Amino acid sequence: MNQRNNHRLILFPLPFQGHINPMLLLGRILYARGFSITILHTNFNAPDPSSHPHFAFRSIADGLDQSKASKSDIPGLISLLNTLCVSPFEECLREMMSLQSGEAVPVACLISDSLFSFTCGVAERLKVRALMLRTGCATCLYLYTICPVLKEKYFPIHGSRLQETVKEFPPLLVRDIPAMDSQEPGLLFRLVDDLIKTIKSSPGVIFNTFEELEQPVIASLREVLSVPLFPIGPSHKFCVTSSSSSLLAEDRSCISWLDEQPPKSVIYVSFGSVAAMSEAEILEIALGLACSEQPFLWVVRPGSVCDPEWLEKSPSRFLEALEGRGKIVKWAPQKEVLAHPAVGAFWTHNGWNSTVESISEGVPMLCMPCFADQGVNARYVSDVWRIGVNLNGGLERENIARAIKRLLVEREGEEIRERALVLKEKASACVRQGGSSYQALDALVSHILSSE
Ligand code: UDP
Repeated sequence: MNQRNNHRLILFPLPFQGHINPMLLLGRILYARGFSITILHTNFNAPDPSSHPHFAFRSIADGLDQSKASKSDIPGLISLLNTLCVSPFEECLREMMSLQSGEAVPVACLISDSLFSFTCGVAERLKVRALMLRTGCATCLYLYTICPVLKEKYFPIHGSRLQETVKEFPPLLVRDIPAMDSQEPGLLFRLVDDLIKTIKSSPGVIFNTFEELEQPVIASLREVLSVPLFPIGPSHKFCVTSSSSSLLAEDRSCISWLDEQPPKSVIYVSFGSVAAMSEAEILEIALGLACSEQPFLWVVRPGSVCDPEWLEKSPSRFLEALEGRGKIVKWAPQKEVLAHPAVGAFWTHNGWNSTVESISEGVPMLCMPCFADQGVNARYVSDVWRIGVNLNGGLERENIARAIKRLLVEREGEEIRERALVLKEKASACVRQGGSSYQALDALVSHILSSE
């Protein structure tokens, strides 16, 4: 085991898969730099301590009535957690601070998910420094800083304007703005407002991105926010060993199935941990995959279909469409899948983690954003980095098949595949000694240590 540096960090992830993964990764990176790590977590979506034997875990009673909380209304759930967690979090943190003298390793600072906006106030009261982890891209955060302007100009949205370019932020289209798809944009705007205030008052923000990917936006953000920013992505590339923070069991049989497929032939299909489709959409995806005549690996998790029993109810009809060409699993070891030589393209909802994981393996993307920041991520993949295509013609089988073939086999997709490999090389370089993310990590460690 490497040497401990006698400083403990308390990490507090937002309890969703796309937030838990980068926070626990950050924990592993900082553990490797000598810090002791305590993960403070809600009972809701609690991580599994046995996957992280080097960390200490403490849970807080969030008081969330899971039968009443709608897991499809993420902004509503975040807002609720920001109310419910205040007292138990403060109590737990106070207790940990008062144990300081008795604890072997004293607390150096708190690192909280930036959407847990209440933690700043609590940390201030208890005189603990509270750095923030922002789990989305820097570009989206910059977009949030100009939210009042966008709100004034584009809301309420009229359908006819959806394809308009956002003049303040080309090449984004109006339909890419995060609140567009929200049932209740007011709530989303409040969350964004709280997020920006929290970040501006924090002593620093950590991102899972890298300078070469998001310059010049990172430079603009530094100016607008006036706080130190630490882009240390792709963070999973700092970790040599893999340990999973998945809330669902990973089905590793897909790796041996991939072993049998030709190089770069497989389209990997996953829409993350939250997005849900209608039965008709899922069937069209199945037919599109069959039409593409390429092997596929598809994650259909419980919850992928709006009707939770659908997958169990109608497997034969569902599988009929697939003609034995692919493999379906409920949850995959995604990073390992994307790094597998048989995988040639990724059909994704463009959650930020999936996007970064794909970039860092040089896998071109078929983009199908569903909500939140995904429209922004997808636009950057297709129009700025040009390492993927949007499913512009809609979710229709022939259109799907055409896009898959273009990405995987046709000459038309050659430049996209090449650009994806160039970007992969840049991503690899930045986590090597002297690379931009490596330096940002050094700066982060010094920042934490200098804060006492
Ligand atoms: N993931 C995984 N196995 C799967 C699907 C997803 O391990 O079968 C992981 C993926 O690697 C990523 C996270 O779950 O780290 C999903 O986060 P993302 O930001 O892409 O999307 P979200 O789930 O937040 O919509």
